[in-house]
Amino acid sequence: MLNIESLRQALSVPRKIVIIPHQKPDADALGSCLALWNFFKNKGHVATVISPTQYPDFLQWMPGHEETLVYSEATHGSCQQVISEAEIIFCLDFNDLKRCEPLDVLISGNTTAIKAMVDHHQDKKDFANFEYVRVTAAATAELIYELIHLLGNDSDITPPIASCIYAGIMTDTGSFKYPATTPQIHRIVANLMEKGINHSLIHRNIYDNSTLDRLRLKGFALSERLKVIPELHTAYFVLSKADLSRFHHQIGDTEGLVNYGLSIRGVKLSVILKEDEGFVKMSLRSVGSLSVNDIARTHFNGGGHINAAGGRLPGMSIEEAERCFLEVIYSYKDTLADTNN
Ligand code: 5GP
Ligand code: MN
Repeated sequence: MLNIESLRQALSVPRKIVIIPHQKPDADALGSCLALWNFFKNKGHVATVISPTQYPDFLQWMPGHEETLVYSEATHGSCQQVISEAEIIFCLDFNDLKRCEPLDVLISGNTTAIKAMVDHHQDKKDFANFEYVRVTAAATAELIYELIHLLGNDSDITPPIASCIYAGIMTDTGSFKYPATTPQIHRIVANLMEKGINHSLIHRNIYDNSTLDRLRLKGFALSERLKVIPELHTAYFVLSKADLSRFHHQIGDTEGLVNYGLSIRGVKLSVILKEDEGFVKMSLRSVGSLSVNDIARTHFNGGGHINAAGGRLPGMSIEEAERCFLEVIYSYKDTLADTNN
């Protein structure tokens, strides 16, 4: 395992660097990548962000995103080449190579590159030679802010870098309301604001940038597809492919929807089941000590954080997935019914 000094040493000459977020990157994953990309570019390295999948259009303002290589059949060759030539590969906002499929194969085979993980999720897998990991961090972007200070200094935080970091922190803290929001987060944000970011515009770019279809899908999901099980303090949405295509669903359109379940009085678990190609994707959120990371890891092939996790049920129809989900949560009846947690 390399320490920060060895990483600093490795970066003392211009390097070919690849930076990878998890699949369907959110503002924290992509913002962390682009903050680091801008930093390395300014330091004279040749860096490339490679996203395993497309990312939502409400992130398409982030400085440098136009130069991101998005994996697809058409870009397979270039992704393979850039990864095979890389001397350092950064994996940001994930801790299990499965989370960057199909790039995982390219990263694990045929490369002697240093693999560096920067992440704040639970239950890390050991695949990196350098780790900058803290599960109590509010966002990976917080860790990127620290890492830039460890590899450089405060003057390296340019306005584009500050904007990317701010976006990651703002979204992963639920606009500074989740319990992981510390005084230090506010100090970091104060510093980012002093760098000249337009925090209000960043917020609007991310949260007030819906298509009409996306807004209508949200309305439809809330009025027609939300079920509540009062005795389990649980709310859940079931969205079929037909529902999604009715509203011309685009990547990112259901992001944030799951949180509405938690806004209902008494609800402490909220879940979305969303039909995808060959699997049903799940998003889970909880309040208090109920760990959706444990539930997602044990039953839904996923993981994440204690109060925010994801998973998937492969090979199931949406109806089967709903039945499976209900069976699982009824097995947590005692925990869910207990009003002390
Ligand atoms: P979301 O529900 O927004 O997709 O994800 C919530 C959190 O769980 C995020 O931090 C995300 O990185 C993580 N997550 C989402 N899906 C998966 C998954 O399939 N496996 C793991 N390990 N984490 C996931
Ligand atoms: Mn994150």
